[in-house]
Amino acid sequence: MERNEMTVQQKREAVENALGRTDLLMDGFLDVLKQDFGEKKRTGRDFGAVAEKIVPEEKKEEPEPVRQDDDERLHMSMASLLADSAQCTRCGLCRTRKNVVFGTGCSERPLVMVIGEGPGENEDLQGLPFVGKAGQYLDKWLAAIGLSRETNVYITNTVKCRPPQNRDPYPEEKTACFAYLKQQIALIRPASILCLGKPASTLMTGQPEASMNALHGRFFFHESIPMICTYHPAAVLRDLSLKRPVWDDLKKLARYLGLETGGSRA
Ligand code: URA
Repeated sequence: MERNEMTVQQKREAVENALGRTDLLMDGFLDVLKQDFGEKKRTGRDFGAVAEKIVPEEKKEEPEPVRQDDDERLHMSMASLLADSAQCTRCGLCRTRKNVVFGTGCSERPLVMVIGEGPGENEDLQGLPFVGKAGQYLDKWLAAIGLSRETNVYITNTVKCRPPQNRDPYPEEKTACFAYLKQQIALIRPASILCLGKPASTLMTGQPEASMNALHGRFFFHESIPMICTYHPAAVLRDLSLKRPVWDDLKKLARYLGLETGGSRA
């Protein structure tokens, strides 16, 4: 006997299996024949269509819904994200805040999303980011490269509630708030991100130990969105020698976005 030749017993089992399967199909087969072919001539039938009826598409198992913990729950709209953040108690900053400072500006595909550190006193009182001295200076920087929060920039912070006495936000506060920031970015879909100062730059680049000297002026990516870091406007107001590197960083961003810089320094 050839190696692949079936024995009589194997052939019988194969025939028996085939008959069993045919028998199973027969009920459906007879139904279709009765419905569709009872009256028709026995020529030129579309046997492909018959086969599709007798052997319907297999029902796919519904996939298990993906479980996400509270932090990673994807909000489908800014409104629901905003409503959630307004009630937030994820970190201790909720105890001293007057307002949650969520963000402001162009919220649909802006050219730039600016990420600062956290609200200060004025921001906490008004519920809007960058409304104090540093904010006015930031507006000048933006104007110098043809941007504004009214038209093509969205502005937010690493934490949405004011750290007491304007201290830097603690790492655990930034981590607690990062879920909001990530979802904001995903919903707003900016063309680029500008991180201002160390808390934002280290958080967004995932380099907690890096200095601003090491991070500024370099392009990074957040979920494929190009991102550049520079010094915080409040730091530049304290140390005017930072003006030059900031201007160079802003020009780099402007060049990437195809914007005119007009030569007037921020
Ligand atoms: N500084 C920030 O980092 N953010 C603000 O909103 C205001 C000042």
